[in-house]
Amino acid sequence: MTDKFTGSFTQQEPIPEEAIDAAVRIMQTGRLHRYNTVGDEIAEAALLEEEFAKFVGSKYCLAVASGGYAITTALRAVGVEPGDPVLTNAFTLAPVPGAIASVGAKPIYVGVTEGLVIDLNDLRTKVKQAKVLLLSHMRGHICDMDELMRICGAAGVIVIEDCAHTMGATWHTIPSGRFGHVGCYSTQTYKHMNSGEGGLLVTDDDEIMARSVMLSGSYMMFERHRAGPPAATYKRIKYETPNISGRMDNLRAAILRPQLSRLSEQCGKWNARYRVVEAGLRDTPGMTLIDRPEEEGFVASSFQFLLLDWAPSQIKDVVARCAARGVELKWFGADEPVGFTSKYDSWQYAEHPPMPATDRILAGIMDMRLPLTFTLEDCDLIARIIKSEVSAVWQQEAANP
Ligand SMILES: *Cc1c(COP(=O)(O)O)cnc(C)c1O
Repeated sequence: MTDKFTGSFTQQEPIPEEAIDAAVRIMQTGRLHRYNTVGDEIAEAALLEEEFAKFVGSKYCLAVASGGYAITTALRAVGVEPGDPVLTNAFTLAPVPGAIASVGAKPIYVGVTEGLVIDLNDLRTKVKQAKVLLLSHMRGHICDMDELMRICGAAGVIVIEDCAHTMGATWHTIPSGRFGHVGCYSTQTYKHMNSGEGGLLVTDDDEIMARSVMLSGSYMMFERHRAGPPAATYKRIKYETPNISGRMDNLRAAILRPQLSRLSEQCGKWNARYRVVEAGLRDTPGMTLIDRPEEEGFVASSFQFLLLDWAPSQIKDVVARCAARGVELKWFGADEPVGFTSKYDSWQYAEHPPMPATDRILAGIMDMRLPLTFTLEDCDLIARIIKSEVSAVWQQEAANP
C-alpha cells in the first residue's frame, strides 16, 4: 500500500476573525498611514510596537515594511558603510546577504555545522575581519548564543540577529533577538505572524533606535513612537540621518496585533507537529536528524534532516519519490537552486572563497515546511512517506553500490 499525502505545503491558516475585524475598522477610518491620527488617537502601528517590545522584553521596537528592510535598517543604524565587511552565515536565505549588498557592504561567510547553526570555530577565525555580524537563525536553529556573544564581545563586534525564523523562540529562556544589539523579524506570509509583508526591529539602544526611526521615514513625527527613545536622542541625528521610507502601515499592524496575542499558542502547535515528524523519522537508514540542544526553545515552522554524503542522483531520487506521494521536500544543496537560494555560492555578487566542510553539510540539507494547516495525523503520514522512500533509495544503493 502506498499512502499519498494531499495537503498543501504552502497553505497557511486564515487570518483570525478578530484581525479581519480590526482591518475593516482601519479601512473604514481611511487612516492607514501610521502618522495619520486624529486627536489623541494612538496608531495601530505604535500599539503593535509597544506590544511586541513587551513580548520580547526590549526597550524599543519599530514596525517596518519587511524583514529585509528591518535588517537593512539595522545595518545602517549601527553604522555599516559601503565597502565594509560584514560577517554572516554561509547557510541562510537570499535576503540576508541581499541586505548587506543593499548598503554596499561585503558579506564574509561563516560556515555551518551539522546542527545547522553557525560554526563558532569558523567564527573565531574570522571575527577580527569585521565590526558587525549579521547572524541568521536560519530555519529556526539557534547556536550557543552565550558562546557567540562571548566571541563577538571580546572582538568588539556588533551583533544583529535575523530572527525571521525564530520569532517566539528562546535560548536559555531569553527571547531570540535579545542577545545582539538589534533583533530583526519578518511578518511575511510564510513566517510566524502573517501580514503579507512586514517587519519588526527591536533594540535597547537609544541611538540605534532613533536612527532606525528616522531611516524608516518618520519625517519629524518621531515623538509618536511610543516604543521609542526620549525625544532628546533625535536632536543629534535628525538632520544627518537619511529618510529611506519603509514604514509599516496601520492596516498590517491591525492584522498583526491579534496574531501576537496568540503567538505563544501557535508556537506550541508548530512544535507538536515537529515532534511527530521527528519521532516518525527516527532510525531511518542513511538519514541524520538534527540534535536540538536543551537550551534551545525553538519554534519549528519547518523541518530539516541531512542525507550526508549521499550522491546527488540519490537525493534527486528521494525528492522525486516523495513528490510523487505528495510530500514536497526541498533540497537546499542542489547545484542549481529551485525556487529560492540558501547557500553562499549562489550569491555571486560577493566574493565566496570555497568552504569544503560547509559544502559537505549544505549538499545534504533537506527541508520541509510545516504549516499549521497540517494536522498531527498529516505529520505522521508525511514522516512515514519520507521514511519509506529514503529507506528504499538507501537499500537500492546498498544492493547495487
Ligand atoms: C524571510 C526571511 C527574511 C526576510 O524577510 P522578508 O520579510 O521576506 O523581507 C530574512 N531572513 C530569512 C532567513 C528569511 O527567511
